[in-house]
Amino acid sequence: MKAVYIDQHGGPEALTHGERPEPEVAPGEVMLRVGGSALNHLDLSLRAGTGYRGGLPRILGCDIAGEVVNISPEAPGDLKVGDRVLLDNRTKCGACPSCLQGLDQYCANQKRLGVDLDGGHAEYVTAPAINAHRIPDSMSFTEAAALPIAAHTAWHCLVTQGQIRPWDDVLIQAAGSGVGSMGIQIAKMFGARVITTAGSDWKLEKARALGADEVINYRETPDISRRVKELTDGRGVDLVFDVVGADVWEENLLSLKPGGRLVITGVTSGARASMDLSILQGRPLQLMGSGGRSRRTFADMMKMVNQGSLHGIVDRVFPLAGVAEAHRVMESREFFGKLVIES
Ligand SMILES: [Zn+2]
Repeated sequence: MKAVYIDQHGGPEALTHGERPEPEVAPGEVMLRVGGSALNHLDLSLRAGTGYRGGLPRILGCDIAGEVVNISPEAPGDLKVGDRVLLDNRTKCGACPSCLQGLDQYCANQKRLGVDLDGGHAEYVTAPAINAHRIPDSMSFTEAAALPIAAHTAWHCLVTQGQIRPWDDVLIQAAGSGVGSMGIQIAKMFGARVITTAGSDWKLEKARALGADEVINYRETPDISRRVKELTDGRGVDLVFDVVGADVWEENLLSLKPGGRLVITGVTSGARASMDLSILQGRPLQLMGSGGRSRRTFADMMKMVNQGSLHGIVDRVFPLAGVAEAHRVMESREFFGKLVIES
């Protein structure tokens, strides 16, 4: 079958568009004919070999949607051939101490499609049947592929970790990122007031269209926390959701009101930051990471997708032969939402 894979690390030229063996359905698995598979920042580091731990060759593509074309007789659930689904890309063992405690987000044996297992930049992919979730009939595969990781991460960070409430003022960094744009939708769904940031006005316009109440262009207003205070009558926000990391760490802390909560899920600008510990002591902040995500919260998130409350945000669609070009666009940051590959 046609697929895009890496058998060595490097720049976008390391991506090979060629033939790979068609996968076989193992017990408990389903096979999809892939309709769409979205890019994540993780793909750039996988390709470059920074932080990559899996084997080679590897078919990339962690966010996957498609049509069920084959089901193992042992597969649990009621999926049928022809069903339209998207995939939770994390497989869990169901048998380790964490799984047995109902804490599968901490499963010691989890693997990720598109990282440790072959992914969705291909004609076909296999996955455990319990990782496949039906999508609305009206939703395209390319829109569905834009959802799983971004929507689940934003849901996990805002709802599970951040305990978002309707009366919260929420600062969401990087409106144009996959998780940022999804975070705006989810925060508005919960009735919160959203302040968001981006480096260009066209992204901020799109953020407003998604429901953001206030926007800050961080290139024109680098002192984000001062502007946040102005927008909150001097109080600061209840909750910060951040994917940027080191570059905005200090501004994140200064933007929080006393007792505020910060959830961080990415460090795209860097992972090392210093901290004035008196800020933590004087204003008892709750600083949280994202970490693993559970099957239960994926199911919660999918309920909102299937009732039409949560939509995938697709910037551009590329053909399978265009994955290298999509990687270049991702590196340029000149996009809003997700870059999706159509198989
Ligand atoms: Zn486990």
